Amino acid sequence: MSIRKSALIPIAISLLTTATVIGCSQTKESSQSTDVKEGAVAATPTKPSSTTTATENRVDPATIPADKIADAATIIARKQVPILCYHQVRDWRPKDSENARSYIMPIQVFKDQIKMLADSGYHSISPDQLYAYLTTGAALPEKPVLITFDDGDEEQHGIAAPELEKYGFKGTFFIMTASIGRRGYQHYMDKQQIKDLADRGHTIGCHTWDHHSVKKYTAADWVTQIEQPTKKLEEITGKPVRHFAYPFGLWNHEATVELKKRGYLGAYQLAEKKRDEENPLLSIRRIIASGYWSPKTLSNNIKNSFK
Ligand SMILES: [Zn+2]
Repeated sequence: MSIRKSALIPIAISLLTTATVIGCSQTKESSQSTDVKEGAVAATPTKPSSTTTATENRVDPATIPADKIADAATIIARKQVPILCYHQVRDWRPKDSENARSYIMPIQVFKDQIKMLADSGYHSISPDQLYAYLTTGAALPEKPVLITFDDGDEEQHGIAAPELEKYGFKGTFFIMTASIGRRGYQHYMDKQQIKDLADRGHTIGCHTWDHHSVKKYTAADWVTQIEQPTKKLEEITGKPVRHFAYPFGLWNHEATVELKKRGYLGAYQLAEKKRDEENPLLSIRRIIASGYWSPKTLSNNIKNSFK
């Protein structure tokens, strides 16, 4: 198996034109040959029944006392849970560039990838569960995987979530609030669709207001890009929003500090190997599942990328 290596490719976006496809950039993982045993994550694995409910295995991070939270070195040393990042789930259109197609999932490709996860014995977990595991070593289901979606594309509600639910999986949806309800070349979920996902037991997280990189924020930007969108998503869902995904996967130490200050428990980057030494919870690694990947390729990349 060979995977192309490439540098971070920023995807030019303009929110002023509705015809523009908005999405994260991606870093492709280099291939590594060492295999790993994903089942080894939990000290005492629990097997959720096939009828997993929204409340099962839910841990409220707010109930974890500060003195029970492990230090950064311990958190970094824990075995990593595979975390996947999806964007649009729709068939390719003639105007979609080759690069865009690497993160736009044709519907059948997506269905085949999710079926592979189920057939391989993976169990989806929530960001709250991941937080409990990383901070306290709390047990996770066998072969845990965190399935995330960025940007708030409408088909994540209409196509992706029902597909996950077929297998008892739950997803995590990071919403860019500027686009809520937008219709155009790419459609975005409206408030009711976002609330519906939350009501069905999926997790709603924040992905800024309009997808600007956190690396250049001024004091005012932290209000418009983070504080206000967080409040808006909490109003829509009626639930706390404690997890964040960096636009383009781009982050720096200052951003981890600012997010932590604002009550964020987890923040997700892309495939950079390095996590922040002081705030590893605010620099959690994910890989973008490519629209070019067969189920087998996804399976191999999961094994090679998270150790
Ligand atoms: Zn994005």
